[in-house]
Amino acid sequence: MEEAILQAKNVSYAYEEGEGLAISDINLSFRRGEMTAILGHNGSGKSTLAKLLNGLYIPTAGTVTVCGMDTALDDNTWEIRKKAGMVFQNPDNQLVASIVRDDVAFGLENIGVPTEEMPARIEAALRAVGMLDFIDRAPHMLSGGQKQRIAIAGILAMQPQALILDEATAMLDPKGREEVFSIVEKLNREQGITVVWITHFMEEAARCGRVVVMDGGHIVMDGEPQEVFTRAEDMRRMRLDVPPMVALGDLLRSRGMKISRDAMDIDSMAREVLKWL
Ligand code: ADP
Ligand code: MG
Repeated sequence: MEEAILQAKNVSYAYEEGEGLAISDINLSFRRGEMTAILGHNGSGKSTLAKLLNGLYIPTAGTVTVCGMDTALDDNTWEIRKKAGMVFQNPDNQLVASIVRDDVAFGLENIGVPTEEMPARIEAALRAVGMLDFIDRAPHMLSGGQKQRIAIAGILAMQPQALILDEATAMLDPKGREEVFSIVEKLNREQGITVVWITHFMEEAARCGRVVVMDGGHIVMDGEPQEVFTRAEDMRRMRLDVPPMVALGDLLRSRGMKISRDAMDIDSMAREVLKWL
């Protein structure tokens, strides 16, 4: 078994004492290099889980560890902040400085990186998200997708093990969405960064190696996208769609065409269908 980078053991969370649980008895671990999508209807507990996984919230019951460090112990706070970074939905709420360079530097200052180490780290992080040319620009002039990439660079500069993105593409146009998703995909593939990708876009989930589905504060499905999306009935019951190409595949199979279940995006579906022409 590969090392768990993020782990939740019997984790529950209540926002207020005596109130209902937003998250109930969750057991989940994310291994080094995994890229996992988390799906679930509004209120199913995705954001609560995300904030537990990087130590922003401390479990009401159970234990969360980041690279083996218990998030409930104050001594671990700074080390955890370096290891697991989080990107939120609204690109405008995440940038703090008036120049891109300073924005990426902000997190480094917080964790006490020596000044002379900063330029190299900032440049490497901006290069990794394809934004090095924008280093002297003003963040508020950038597109939503570019802002999210700067937010990601700010985390990368801290050399994290894990990235947790909570609907990071929800406010972007299709181009910005693809920009941000493909950068994160590349960081996962090339640098082995563990990614937790919370989304309501099924096409994005289909591109992750693993899909976890939440409902009412519980984990209700956990598997490869092919397995999870095969359960179209269960998905509908949880008020979730399956990716369009998966639905098309189901339809074509029901009409007797042999279409691979791995064809979950337009390109691979086109290849499958062309075999029949
Ligand atoms: P999701 O991200 O899947 O939409 P959330 O984690 O935001 O779900 O919410 C899970 C549950 O916790 C919901 O019932 C929601 O109403 C509740 N909740 C979320 N944030 C708060 C908060 N700040 N205070 C009280 N309850 C909250
Ligand atoms: Mg949410």
